[in-house]
Amino acid sequence: MKLLEDRIKKDGKVLSEHVLKVDSFLNHQMDPVLMQEIGKELATLFAKDEITKIVTIESSGIAPAIMAGLYLNVPVVFARKRKPLTLTEDLISAAVHSFTKNETNEISLSKKYLDEQDRVLIIDDFLANGQAALGLIQLVQQAGADVAGIGIVIEKSFQQGAEILKEMGIRVESLARIQSLSNGNVTFINEKVEELMK
Ligand code: 5GP
Repeated sequence: MKLLEDRIKKDGKVLSEHVLKVDSFLNHQMDPVLMQEIGKELATLFAKDEITKIVTIESSGIAPAIMAGLYLNVPVVFARKRKPLTLTEDLISAAVHSFTKNETNEISLSKKYLDEQDRVLIIDDFLANGQAALGLIQLVQQAGADVAGIGIVIEKSFQQGAEILKEMGIRVESLARIQSLSNGNVTFINEKVEELMK
């Protein structure tokens, strides 16, 4: 998605060979117009998949997920990283190791909002080693629902997540796919292809 790639080039900060900071439009301050375009694109990619629900994880997955939910006209459920006092009934949980924080959290959601009839689109901001996505898949499967696919805003293709998920037979659609973060620069996969074709 050109608009997103341009924005990453302009405002993304490469913190290391593995971590990209996008605090100015996605992870802290959020750009609603960009989020709307992201939601529209994700909804278009999964328009024919009879999605009944979107599942994401707090907090940075919520903005793209809600916008996709608006275009697909389906509810959005977000998994919690901490169990709220009010979330007591029929809780389903999975363990997720956080790539950026290097800690393991139990994520959970109420079974009340997912059932066997649901076809779920999972959405998240980043895909790195796939731990968050795998945790969300576990939650959906525990509820007896189907995973129709995964929509990602920024995939770091040099990490293993996309490969692991695709090997499991899961459809992964990423709007920006980063080939490398070497030397402080963001290089997208399609840029590499274009370069080779020159
Ligand atoms: P994974 O579970 O795929 O290893 O990592 C995905 C999660 O870690 C995402 O939910 C995202 O919050 C966080 N994450 C992974 N890599 C990055 C990164 O380079 N930048 C930012 N801002 N978040 C990341």
